[in-house]
Amino acid sequence: MSWEPVIGLEVHVHLKTRTKVFCRCPVGFGAGENTQTCPVCLGFPGALPVINRRAVEWTIKLGLALGCEIAQHAVFARKHYPYPDLPKGYQISQYDLPSCINGKMLLPTAEGDRVIGIVRAHLEEDAAKTIHVGGRSGRIGGADYSLIDFNRGGTPLVEIVTAPDIRSADEARRFLQLLRQTVVELGISDAEMEKGALRVDANVSVRPTGSDELRTRTEIKNMNSFNFIARGIEAEVERQIGVWDSGDEVRQQTYDFDAATGTLTARRSKEEADDYRYFPEPDLVPVEPPADLVEALCAELPELPAERIRRLEAALDLDRATVLVTGGLDRLWGETVAAGADRTAAANVIANALVGAGVDLGAVSPAELAKLVGARDRIPRTAFDEAIAKLGDPGFSAEPYLTQEAVADSAELEPIVARVLEANPGQVEAFRNGKQGLLGFFVGQVMKETDGKANPRVVSELVRSRLEA
Ligand code: ADP
Ligand code: MG
Ligand code: ZN
Repeated sequence: MSWEPVIGLEVHVHLKTRTKVFCRCPVGFGAGENTQTCPVCLGFPGALPVINRRAVEWTIKLGLALGCEIAQHAVFARKHYPYPDLPKGYQISQYDLPSCINGKMLLPTAEGDRVIGIVRAHLEEDAAKTIHVGGRSGRIGGADYSLIDFNRGGTPLVEIVTAPDIRSADEARRFLQLLRQTVVELGISDAEMEKGALRVDANVSVRPTGSDELRTRTEIKNMNSFNFIARGIEAEVERQIGVWDSGDEVRQQTYDFDAATGTLTARRSKEEADDYRYFPEPDLVPVEPPADLVEALCAELPELPAERIRRLEAALDLDRATVLVTGGLDRLWGETVAAGADRTAAANVIANALVGAGVDLGAVSPAELAKLVGARDRIPRTAFDEAIAKLGDPGFSAEPYLTQEAVADSAELEPIVARVLEANPGQVEAFRNGKQGLLGFFVGQVMKETDGKANPRVVSELVRSRLEA
Protein backbone atom coordinates (compact mmCIF):
# COMPACT_ATOMS: atom_id res chain seq x y z
CA MET A 1 0.00 0.00 0.00
CA SER A 2 1.27 3.50 -0.72
CA TRP A 3 0.82 6.37 1.72
CA GLU A 4 0.23 10.07 1.27
CA PRO A 5 1.40 12.68 3.82
CA VAL A 6 -1.19 15.16 5.09
CA ILE A 7 0.32 18.27 6.65
CA GLY A 8 -1.08 21.40 8.27
CA LEU A 9 1.17 24.14 9.61
CA GLU A 10 0.84 26.59 12.48
CA VAL A 11 3.23 29.45 11.86
CA HIS A 12 4.13 32.05 14.48
CA VAL A 13 5.55 35.34 13.26
CA HIS A 14 6.89 38.13 15.50
CA LEU A 15 5.65 41.55 14.41
CA LYS A 16 8.33 44.21 14.38
CA THR A 17 6.28 46.88 16.10
CA ARG A 18 8.27 49.32 18.21
CA THR A 19 6.45 48.32 21.39
CA LYS A 20 4.83 45.17 22.77
CA VAL A 21 1.26 44.18 22.01
CA PHE A 22 -0.41 45.08 25.34
CA CYS A 23 2.09 47.47 26.98
CA ARG A 24 4.59 50.10 25.93
CA CYS A 25 7.78 48.17 26.60
CA PRO A 26 10.11 48.13 23.59
CA VAL A 27 10.21 45.02 21.43
CA GLY A 28 13.74 43.94 20.74
CA PHE A 29 16.18 41.12 20.45
CA GLY A 30 19.46 41.12 22.32
CA ALA A 31 18.84 43.66 25.09
CA GLY A 32 20.07 42.75 28.60
CA GLU A 33 17.87 40.13 30.28
CA ASN A 34 14.74 41.42 31.98
CA THR A 35 15.39 45.06 31.06
CA GLN A 36 12.32 45.45 28.83
CA THR A 37 9.51 44.72 31.24
CA CYS A 38 6.71 46.44 33.14
CA PRO A 39 3.84 45.41 35.43
CA VAL A 40 1.67 44.49 32.40
CA CYS A 41 4.08 42.08 30.70
CA LEU A 42 5.25 40.73 34.06
CA GLY A 43 1.64 39.88 34.88
CA PHE A 44 1.34 41.85 38.10
CA PRO A 45 -2.14 41.74 39.61
CA GLY A 46 -4.29 44.66 38.56
CA ALA A 47 -2.10 45.76 35.64
CA LEU A 48 -4.27 46.46 32.58
CA PRO A 49 -3.43 45.67 28.94
CA VAL A 50 -4.00 48.18 26.11
CA ILE A 51 -4.00 46.95 22.49
CA ASN A 52 -1.21 48.12 20.19
CA ARG A 53 -3.04 49.66 17.22
CA ARG A 54 -0.25 48.97 14.76
CA ALA A 55 -0.14 45.27 15.69
CA VAL A 56 -3.86 45.03 14.89
CA GLU A 57 -3.40 46.83 11.56
CA TRP A 58 -0.50 44.61 10.56
CA THR A 59 -2.44 41.46 11.43
CA ILE A 60 -5.24 42.68 9.17
CA LYS A 61 -2.76 43.55 6.44
CA LEU A 62 -1.31 40.05 6.53
CA GLY A 63 -4.84 38.60 6.51
CA LEU A 64 -5.63 40.62 3.39
CA ALA A 65 -2.42 39.45 1.70
CA LEU A 66 -3.52 35.88 2.44
CA GLY A 67 -6.98 36.50 0.95
CA CYS A 68 -8.74 36.23 4.31
CA GLU A 69 -12.07 37.65 5.38
CA ILE A 70 -11.39 40.33 7.99
CA ALA A 71 -13.60 40.07 11.05
CA GLN A 72 -15.64 43.16 11.89
CA HIS A 73 -15.76 41.86 15.43
CA ALA A 74 -12.74 39.95 16.74
CA VAL A 75 -12.35 39.09 20.40
CA PHE A 76 -9.30 38.48 22.56
CA ALA A 77 -9.49 35.51 24.90
CA ARG A 78 -7.51 34.12 27.79
CA LYS A 79 -5.85 30.80 27.05
CA HIS A 80 -4.92 29.29 30.40
CA TYR A 81 -1.96 27.10 31.07
CA PRO A 82 0.55 27.08 33.89
CA TYR A 83 4.10 27.68 32.76
CA PRO A 84 6.95 29.67 34.32
CA ASP A 85 7.38 31.84 31.24
CA LEU A 86 3.71 32.85 31.34
CA PRO A 87 3.45 34.97 34.48
CA LYS A 88 -0.30 35.67 34.28
CA GLY A 89 -1.08 31.95 34.06
CA TYR A 90 -2.79 32.65 30.73
CA GLN A 91 -1.84 33.92 27.30
CA ILE A 92 -3.95 36.60 25.65
CA SER A 93 -4.85 35.30 22.20
CA GLN A 94 -7.80 35.22 19.85
CA TYR A 95 -9.90 32.10 19.92
CA ASP A 96 -13.31 31.58 18.35
CA LEU A 97 -13.44 35.10 16.87
CA PRO A 98 -10.03 35.72 15.27
CA SER A 99 -9.22 38.77 13.12
CA CYS A 100 -8.70 36.84 9.87
CA ILE A 101 -10.36 33.65 8.55
CA ASN A 102 -10.85 31.62 5.36
CA GLY A 103 -7.94 32.69 3.24
CA LYS A 104 -5.68 30.87 0.85
CA MET A 105 -2.20 31.04 -0.50
CA LEU A 106 -1.33 30.01 -4.04
CA LEU A 107 1.85 28.03 -4.38
CA PRO A 108 3.09 28.20 -7.98
CA THR A 109 4.16 24.78 -9.29
CA ALA A 110 4.84 23.30 -12.71
CA GLU A 111 1.38 21.69 -12.63
CA GLY A 112 -0.42 24.94 -11.88
CA ASP A 113 -1.13 26.72 -8.61
CA ARG A 114 -1.46 24.57 -5.50
CA VAL A 115 -4.06 26.13 -3.23
CA ILE A 116 -3.16 26.00 0.46
CA GLY A 117 -6.11 27.02 2.62
CA ILE A 118 -5.53 29.47 5.46
CA VAL A 119 -7.94 28.57 8.25
CA ARG A 120 -7.18 31.63 10.33
CA ALA A 121 -4.62 34.25 11.27
CA HIS A 122 -4.85 35.80 14.67
CA LEU A 123 -2.96 38.13 16.99
CA GLU A 124 -1.58 37.01 20.33
CA GLU A 125 1.26 37.70 22.75
CA ASP A 126 4.46 35.69 22.87
CA ALA A 127 5.54 34.03 26.10
CA ALA A 128 8.79 34.93 27.85
CA LYS A 129 11.92 32.91 27.20
CA THR A 130 13.09 30.12 29.45
CA ILE A 131 16.79 29.34 29.46
CA HIS A 132 17.79 25.92 30.79
CA VAL A 133 21.27 25.88 32.27
CA GLY A 134 23.47 22.79 32.45
CA GLY A 135 22.40 19.51 30.88
CA ARG A 136 22.42 18.85 27.16
CA SER A 137 21.89 21.36 24.33
CA GLY A 138 19.77 23.77 26.34
CA ARG A 139 16.91 21.34 26.87
CA ILE A 140 15.02 21.06 30.11
CA GLY A 141 15.81 17.37 30.61
CA GLY A 142 18.95 17.09 32.75
CA ALA A 143 19.27 20.85 33.28
CA ASP A 144 20.55 22.08 36.67
CA TYR A 145 18.24 25.06 36.82
CA SER A 146 16.26 27.39 34.57
CA LEU A 147 16.24 31.15 34.13
CA ILE A 148 13.51 33.30 32.62
CA ASP A 149 14.04 36.35 30.43
CA PHE A 150 10.78 38.32 30.34
CA ASN A 151 11.89 40.66 27.54
CA ARG A 152 10.19 38.50 24.92
CA GLY A 153 6.96 38.21 26.92
CA GLY A 154 4.27 40.31 25.26
CA THR A 155 5.93 40.52 21.83
CA PRO A 156 3.14 40.66 19.23
CA LEU A 157 2.81 37.39 17.43
CA VAL A 158 0.59 36.49 14.51
CA GLU A 159 -0.34 32.84 14.29
CA ILE A 160 -1.23 31.58 10.84
CA VAL A 161 -2.97 28.21 10.65
CA THR A 162 -3.18 26.34 7.36
CA ALA A 163 -5.72 23.73 6.36
CA PRO A 164 -4.28 20.20 6.11
CA ASP A 165 -3.66 20.84 2.39
CA ILE A 166 0.09 20.30 2.22
CA ARG A 167 1.19 16.98 0.73
CA SER A 168 4.94 16.71 1.23
CA ALA A 169 7.83 18.00 3.30
CA ASP A 170 9.13 19.81 0.25
CA GLU A 171 5.78 21.50 -0.33
CA ALA A 172 5.79 22.59 3.33
CA ARG A 173 9.21 24.11 2.81
CA ARG A 174 8.13 25.97 -0.33
CA PHE A 175 4.95 27.23 1.35
CA LEU A 176 6.96 28.55 4.29
CA GLN A 177 9.56 30.24 2.09
CA LEU A 178 6.80 32.03 0.22
CA LEU A 179 4.95 32.97 3.41
CA ARG A 180 8.15 34.26 4.97
CA GLN A 181 8.93 36.43 1.95
CA THR A 182 5.35 37.76 1.95
CA VAL A 183 5.62 38.79 5.59
CA VAL A 184 9.01 40.44 5.00
CA GLU A 185 7.73 42.40 1.99
CA LEU A 186 4.67 43.59 3.88
CA GLY A 187 7.17 45.22 6.23
CA ILE A 188 5.56 43.71 9.31
CA SER A 189 8.33 41.32 10.40
CA ASP A 190 11.95 40.51 9.67
CA ALA A 191 10.93 36.87 10.12
CA GLU A 192 14.50 35.96 10.99
CA MET A 193 14.27 32.30 11.83
CA GLU A 194 17.59 32.06 13.65
CA LYS A 195 16.29 34.68 16.07
CA GLY A 196 13.05 32.79 16.61
CA ALA A 197 10.97 35.45 14.84
CA LEU A 198 9.35 32.76 12.67
CA ARG A 199 8.56 29.44 14.35
CA VAL A 200 6.60 26.54 13.00
CA ASP A 201 4.56 23.69 14.43
CA ALA A 202 3.91 20.95 11.86
CA ASN A 203 0.82 18.73 12.15
CA VAL A 204 1.40 15.48 10.34
CA SER A 205 -0.67 12.45 9.43
CA VAL A 206 -0.61 9.92 6.60
CA ARG A 207 -3.37 8.17 4.70
CA PRO A 208 -3.64 5.64 1.89
CA THR A 209 -2.85 7.48 -1.36
CA GLY A 210 -6.03 8.63 -3.06
CA SER A 211 -8.24 8.51 0.04
CA ASP A 212 -9.64 11.71 1.50
CA GLU A 213 -9.85 10.61 5.12
CA LEU A 214 -8.04 12.50 7.87
CA ARG A 215 -6.26 10.13 10.23
CA THR A 216 -4.87 10.85 13.67
CA ARG A 217 -2.20 13.52 13.55
CA THR A 218 0.87 14.29 15.60
CA GLU A 219 2.46 17.66 16.06
CA ILE A 220 6.14 18.58 15.85
CA LYS A 221 6.71 21.72 17.89
CA ASN A 222 8.68 24.86 17.49
CA MET A 223 11.03 24.45 14.57
CA ASN A 224 12.95 27.42 13.24
CA SER A 225 14.79 26.41 10.09
CA PHE A 226 13.32 25.41 6.72
CA ASN A 227 15.60 22.39 6.52
CA PHE A 228 14.83 21.14 10.04
CA ILE A 229 11.12 21.48 9.35
CA ALA A 230 11.36 19.47 6.15
CA ARG A 231 13.53 16.81 7.83
CA GLY A 232 11.28 16.67 10.88
CA ILE A 233 8.22 16.12 8.70
CA GLU A 234 10.00 13.46 6.66
CA ALA A 235 11.05 11.59 9.80
CA GLU A 236 7.53 11.71 11.22
CA VAL A 237 5.89 10.59 7.97
CA GLU A 238 8.24 7.64 7.84
CA ARG A 239 7.56 6.77 11.48
CA GLN A 240 3.78 6.87 10.99
CA ILE A 241 3.91 4.71 7.86
CA GLY A 242 5.90 2.18 9.90
CA VAL A 243 3.28 2.25 12.67
CA TRP A 244 0.33 1.69 10.31
CA ASP A 245 2.21 -0.95 8.28
CA SER A 246 2.96 -2.91 11.43
CA GLY A 247 -0.77 -3.09 12.18
CA ASP A 248 -0.59 -0.62 15.05
CA GLU A 249 -2.27 2.79 15.33
CA VAL A 250 -0.78 6.28 15.37
CA ARG A 251 -1.53 8.02 18.65
CA GLN A 252 -2.08 11.76 18.99
CA GLN A 253 1.16 13.09 20.44
CA THR A 254 3.46 16.09 20.47
CA TYR A 255 7.10 15.74 19.46
CA ASP A 256 10.32 17.70 19.55
CA PHE A 257 12.60 17.18 16.57
CA ASP A 258 16.30 17.20 17.34
CA ALA A 259 17.90 18.28 14.09
CA ALA A 260 21.40 17.32 15.21
CA THR A 261 20.50 13.64 15.68
CA GLY A 262 17.45 13.53 13.39
CA THR A 263 15.34 12.06 16.19
CA LEU A 264 11.81 12.75 17.37
CA THR A 265 11.15 12.80 21.11
CA ALA A 266 7.63 12.56 22.50
CA ARG A 267 6.77 15.54 24.65
CA ARG A 268 3.38 15.55 26.33
CA SER A 269 0.05 14.24 25.21
CA LYS A 270 -1.89 16.91 23.42
CA GLU A 271 -4.23 19.18 25.36
CA GLU A 272 -7.77 19.52 24.12
CA ALA A 273 -9.14 23.04 23.77
CA ASP A 274 -11.22 22.35 26.91
CA ASP A 275 -8.08 22.13 29.00
CA TYR A 276 -7.21 25.75 28.24
CA ARG A 277 -10.43 27.10 29.77
CA TYR A 278 -10.67 29.79 27.12
CA PHE A 279 -12.89 32.76 27.96
CA PRO A 280 -13.16 36.30 26.55
CA GLU A 281 -10.55 38.69 27.95
CA PRO A 282 -12.57 41.08 30.14
CA ASP A 283 -9.87 43.77 30.17
CA LEU A 284 -9.84 44.36 26.39
CA VAL A 285 -12.49 45.67 24.02
CA PRO A 286 -13.30 43.70 20.87
CA VAL A 287 -11.38 44.60 17.70
CA GLU A 288 -13.82 46.29 15.32
CA PRO A 289 -11.86 47.79 12.43
CA PRO A 290 -13.81 50.37 10.42
CA ALA A 291 -14.38 49.42 6.77
CA ASP A 292 -12.37 52.37 5.47
CA LEU A 293 -9.34 51.28 7.51
CA VAL A 294 -9.51 47.79 6.01
CA GLU A 295 -9.86 49.31 2.54
CA ALA A 296 -6.88 51.57 3.11
CA LEU A 297 -4.75 48.63 4.28
CA CYS A 298 -5.83 46.65 1.24
CA ALA A 299 -4.82 49.51 -1.06
CA GLU A 300 -1.35 49.47 0.49
CA LEU A 301 -0.66 45.84 -0.47
CA PRO A 302 2.29 45.48 -2.84
CA GLU A 303 2.42 42.96 -5.68
CA LEU A 304 2.87 39.72 -3.76
CA PRO A 305 5.62 37.11 -4.20
CA ALA A 306 3.35 34.41 -5.65
CA GLU A 307 2.14 36.80 -8.37
CA ARG A 308 5.68 37.89 -9.15
CA ILE A 309 6.84 34.27 -9.49
CA ARG A 310 4.20 33.77 -12.17
CA ARG A 311 5.19 36.97 -13.93
CA LEU A 312 8.90 36.08 -13.87
CA GLU A 313 8.25 32.52 -14.92
CA ALA A 314 7.19 33.82 -18.32
CA ALA A 315 10.62 35.41 -18.79
CA LEU A 316 12.67 32.71 -17.08
CA ASP A 317 11.47 29.38 -15.70
CA LEU A 318 9.60 28.37 -12.59
CA ASP A 319 12.55 27.19 -10.51
CA ARG A 320 14.70 30.23 -11.15
CA ALA A 321 11.72 32.56 -10.71
CA THR A 322 10.94 30.94 -7.35
CA VAL A 323 14.52 31.18 -6.10
CA LEU A 324 14.79 34.84 -7.12
CA VAL A 325 11.46 35.90 -5.63
CA THR A 326 11.63 33.96 -2.37
CA GLY A 327 15.19 35.20 -1.91
CA GLY A 328 14.11 38.81 -2.43
CA LEU A 329 16.44 38.92 -5.45
CA ASP A 330 14.04 39.56 -8.31
CA ARG A 331 14.27 43.33 -8.29
CA LEU A 332 18.04 43.28 -8.70
CA TRP A 333 17.62 40.64 -11.40
CA GLY A 334 15.16 42.85 -13.29
CA GLU A 335 17.50 45.84 -13.14
CA THR A 336 20.47 43.72 -14.21
CA VAL A 337 18.56 42.39 -17.21
CA ALA A 338 17.44 45.94 -18.03
CA ALA A 339 21.13 46.89 -17.99
CA GLY A 340 21.74 44.37 -20.76
CA ALA A 341 22.48 41.03 -19.05
CA ASP A 342 21.18 37.71 -20.33
CA ARG A 343 18.14 36.64 -18.28
CA THR A 344 19.19 33.13 -17.36
CA ALA A 345 22.85 33.97 -16.83
CA ALA A 346 21.89 36.91 -14.60
CA ALA A 347 19.57 34.69 -12.55
CA ASN A 348 22.30 32.08 -12.08
CA VAL A 349 24.94 34.60 -11.07
CA ILE A 350 22.64 36.40 -8.62
CA ALA A 351 21.15 33.30 -7.00
CA ASN A 352 24.44 31.42 -6.72
CA ALA A 353 27.62 33.49 -6.87
CA LEU A 354 26.27 36.70 -5.41
CA VAL A 355 24.27 35.16 -2.57
CA GLY A 356 27.08 32.69 -1.88
CA ALA A 357 29.56 35.55 -1.53
CA GLY A 358 27.36 37.26 1.06
CA VAL A 359 27.32 40.56 -0.84
CA ASP A 360 25.12 43.42 0.44
CA LEU A 361 22.56 43.38 -2.35
CA GLY A 362 21.34 46.89 -1.69
CA ALA A 363 24.79 48.25 -2.55
CA VAL A 364 25.14 46.43 -5.88
CA SER A 365 25.13 48.45 -9.11
CA PRO A 366 23.04 46.54 -11.68
CA ALA A 367 25.08 48.04 -14.52
CA GLU A 368 28.39 46.71 -13.12
CA LEU A 369 26.77 43.38 -12.32
CA ALA A 370 25.46 43.16 -15.89
CA LYS A 371 28.99 43.63 -17.25
CA LEU A 372 30.29 40.80 -15.07
CA VAL A 373 27.45 38.50 -16.08
CA GLY A 374 28.31 39.15 -19.72
CA ALA A 375 32.01 38.45 -19.14
CA ARG A 376 31.57 35.38 -16.95
CA ASP A 377 32.61 32.83 -19.58
CA ARG A 378 35.42 34.94 -20.95
CA ILE A 379 37.39 36.16 -17.92
CA PRO A 380 39.30 33.88 -15.50
CA ARG A 381 37.14 32.30 -12.81
CA THR A 382 39.35 33.75 -10.08
CA ALA A 383 38.87 37.27 -11.45
CA PHE A 384 35.14 36.73 -11.72
CA ASP A 385 34.84 35.45 -8.14
CA GLU A 386 36.89 38.32 -6.81
CA ALA A 387 34.82 40.89 -8.69
CA ILE A 388 31.57 39.36 -7.41
CA ALA A 389 32.81 39.46 -3.83
CA LYS A 390 33.61 43.17 -4.21
CA LEU A 391 30.39 44.15 -5.99
CA GLY A 392 28.97 45.71 -2.86
CA ASP A 393 32.01 47.92 -2.22
CA PRO A 394 31.41 51.65 -2.63
CA GLY A 395 32.33 52.86 -6.11
CA PHE A 396 33.00 49.33 -7.43
CA SER A 397 33.93 49.20 -11.11
CA ALA A 398 33.99 46.03 -13.19
CA GLU A 399 36.40 47.45 -15.76
CA PRO A 400 39.74 46.17 -14.35
CA TYR A 401 38.33 42.63 -14.34
CA LEU A 402 36.87 42.80 -17.83
CA THR A 403 40.27 43.24 -19.48
CA GLN A 404 41.53 39.90 -18.14
CA GLU A 405 41.14 36.91 -20.43
CA ALA A 406 40.66 33.30 -19.42
CA VAL A 407 42.66 30.73 -21.34
CA ALA A 408 40.36 29.61 -24.12
CA ASP A 409 43.03 28.28 -26.45
CA SER A 410 42.31 24.60 -27.08
CA ALA A 411 45.90 23.80 -27.90
CA GLU A 412 46.98 25.08 -24.53
CA LEU A 413 44.20 23.34 -22.62
CA GLU A 414 44.16 19.96 -24.40
CA PRO A 415 47.23 18.51 -22.60
CA ILE A 416 45.84 19.51 -19.20
CA VAL A 417 42.48 17.92 -19.97
CA ALA A 418 44.27 14.77 -21.10
CA ARG A 419 46.30 14.67 -17.89
CA VAL A 420 43.21 15.06 -15.68
CA LEU A 421 41.36 12.27 -17.49
CA GLU A 422 44.37 9.95 -17.24
CA ALA A 423 44.63 10.61 -13.51
CA ASN A 424 40.96 9.66 -12.91
CA PRO A 425 40.27 6.43 -14.79
CA GLY A 426 37.44 5.38 -12.42
CA GLN A 427 35.52 8.58 -12.99
CA VAL A 428 36.10 8.36 -16.73
CA GLU A 429 34.55 4.92 -16.81
CA ALA A 430 31.61 6.03 -14.68
CA PHE A 431 31.01 8.96 -17.02
CA ARG A 432 31.06 6.67 -20.06
CA ASN A 433 28.56 4.45 -18.25
CA GLY A 434 26.12 7.34 -18.04
CA LYS A 435 27.14 9.38 -15.00
CA GLN A 436 26.97 12.68 -16.88
CA GLY A 437 27.08 14.69 -13.66
CA LEU A 438 30.83 13.97 -13.48
CA LEU A 439 31.45 16.54 -16.21
CA GLY A 440 31.53 19.21 -13.50
CA PHE A 441 34.13 17.20 -11.59
CA PHE A 442 36.49 17.05 -14.58
CA VAL A 443 36.04 20.73 -15.36
CA GLY A 444 36.73 21.52 -11.70
CA GLN A 445 39.97 19.51 -11.78
CA VAL A 446 41.17 21.35 -14.90
CA MET A 447 40.28 24.67 -13.31
CA LYS A 448 42.36 23.68 -10.30
CA GLU A 449 45.33 22.74 -12.49
CA THR A 450 45.15 26.14 -14.19
CA ASP A 451 44.68 28.15 -10.98
CA GLY A 452 41.20 29.11 -12.18
CA LYS A 453 42.53 30.70 -15.35
CA ALA A 454 40.92 28.37 -17.90
CA ASN A 455 37.69 29.21 -19.64
CA PRO A 456 35.26 26.67 -18.15
CA ARG A 457 33.02 26.57 -21.22
CA VAL A 458 35.94 25.63 -23.47
CA VAL A 459 37.22 23.10 -20.92
CA SER A 460 33.80 21.54 -20.69
CA GLU A 461 33.64 21.17 -24.49
CA LEU A 462 37.11 19.63 -24.59
CA VAL A 463 36.32 17.14 -21.82
CA ARG A 464 33.07 16.17 -23.49
CA SER A 465 34.55 15.67 -26.95
CA ARG A 466 37.36 13.53 -25.54
CA LEU A 467 35.11 11.36 -23.41
CA GLU A 468 32.47 10.95 -26.06
CA ALA A 469 35.02 10.17 -28.75
P1 ADP B 1 -5.34 22.62 17.51
O1 ADP B 1 -3.84 22.68 17.37
O2 ADP B 1 -5.85 23.81 18.24
O3 ADP B 1 -5.83 21.34 18.02
P2 ADP B 1 -6.69 22.44 14.80
O4 ADP B 1 -7.56 21.29 14.98
O5 ADP B 1 -7.34 23.67 14.30
O6 ADP B 1 -5.91 22.83 16.07
O7 ADP B 1 -5.54 22.03 13.82
C1 ADP B 1 -4.29 22.56 13.90
C2 ADP B 1 -3.52 22.19 12.66
O8 ADP B 1 -3.57 20.80 12.43
C3 ADP B 1 -4.02 22.84 11.38
O9 ADP B 1 -2.91 23.35 10.69
C4 ADP B 1 -4.66 21.72 10.62
O10 ADP B 1 -4.54 21.89 9.23
C5 ADP B 1 -3.86 20.54 11.05
N1 ADP B 1 -4.57 19.26 10.98
C6 ADP B 1 -5.80 18.97 11.44
N2 ADP B 1 -6.09 17.67 11.21
C7 ADP B 1 -5.02 17.12 10.61
C8 ADP B 1 -4.71 15.80 10.13
N3 ADP B 1 -5.54 14.76 10.25
N4 ADP B 1 -3.49 15.62 9.56
C9 ADP B 1 -2.61 16.63 9.46
N5 ADP B 1 -2.86 17.86 9.89
C10 ADP B 1 -4.05 18.13 10.46
MG1 MG C 1 -1.82 23.12 17.49
ZN1 ZN D 1 5.67 45.68 29.47
